[in-house]
Amino acid sequence: MHYRKFSSYLRQTYGEKVYKIPISLDGTCPNRDGSVGVGGCTICSEGGVGFELHHFAKPIEEQLRLNKAHISHKYRANKFIIYFQNYTTTYRSIDDIVDLLTQVDGDDVVEIGLSARPDTLPNELLAVLADYPKKIVLELGVQLFNDRILSDINRGHDVAAILDAFDRINQYGLSVCAHLILNLPGATMEDTVTAVETLNRYQIERVKLHSLYIPKGSAIAKDYLAGGLELIGAMDYYDRLEAFIRRAHPAMVIERLFGRAPAEDSLFCNWDRSWRYLQNEFERRLAANQIFQGDDFDETKYS
Ligand code: SF4
Repeated sequence: MHYRKFSSYLRQTYGEKVYKIPISLDGTCPNRDGSVGVGGCTICSEGGVGFELHHFAKPIEEQLRLNKAHISHKYRANKFIIYFQNYTTTYRSIDDIVDLLTQVDGDDVVEIGLSARPDTLPNELLAVLADYPKKIVLELGVQLFNDRILSDINRGHDVAAILDAFDRINQYGLSVCAHLILNLPGATMEDTVTAVETLNRYQIERVKLHSLYIPKGSAIAKDYLAGGLELIGAMDYYDRLEAFIRRAHPAMVIERLFGRAPAEDSLFCNWDRSWRYLQNEFERRLAANQIFQGDDFDETKYS
């Protein structure tokens, strides 16, 4: 195995295949409702980032029933991860969040994921989540550790806020999946190296690497259509993935390498290839060059 794939991690941890069920909620985030900003991140879609959601706008119980029935039938699945994906799930009262958890929790649920921003994780919430009797994973939007780029995409928080969230999450012993976009406009290979070294330093359990996609109707779509965006090519993106994987702590779980957005909803995604095609091509490249996760991981940097 050239990198620590999520599917292998799940099989190792839970003894069988585990399937993720995304649940959609009405909601918002502080970068849309005016408490931090308005208009949201420039890369955000109308639905608050959640292209993989099915049965949108149905009650939670029904979404759960329909998704479980579909997945159980198709894959004979017995274990699930429930993922509250769109907008910022942790931008709610603690009572509301606990109510969401209890609504989806069942014997066949092994983890529950909550979409989060660094500025929506008060200590009181972290304490409650840490005590919850099931593994909670904070699916934390990070993007990159570069204040200029965070400001360019109107993220509404800076790098210091991310590091503060990492520190406090670690104090409470909670799990994080950090979401990064290595090819945001203006990002360089140096940003990739900084990102992986920062995740190593904070011992972040999981990462989702998304290649940039440009949702129709988003603020970034206007720049794209006006020809004002410089985007790197797929081979340059592969170089960044490779640099990330080589430096990543061997235990870091890599959930994803490419973004996933339907062609009809995006102006640009994965250089007009499917994510599966790119993943296969990239994995062949890792194999041909005998590249493994942690090849360049230097423990002395983090001690
Ligand atoms: S990407 Fe997330 S944080 Fe940014 S505006 Fe959309 S929902 Fe809010």
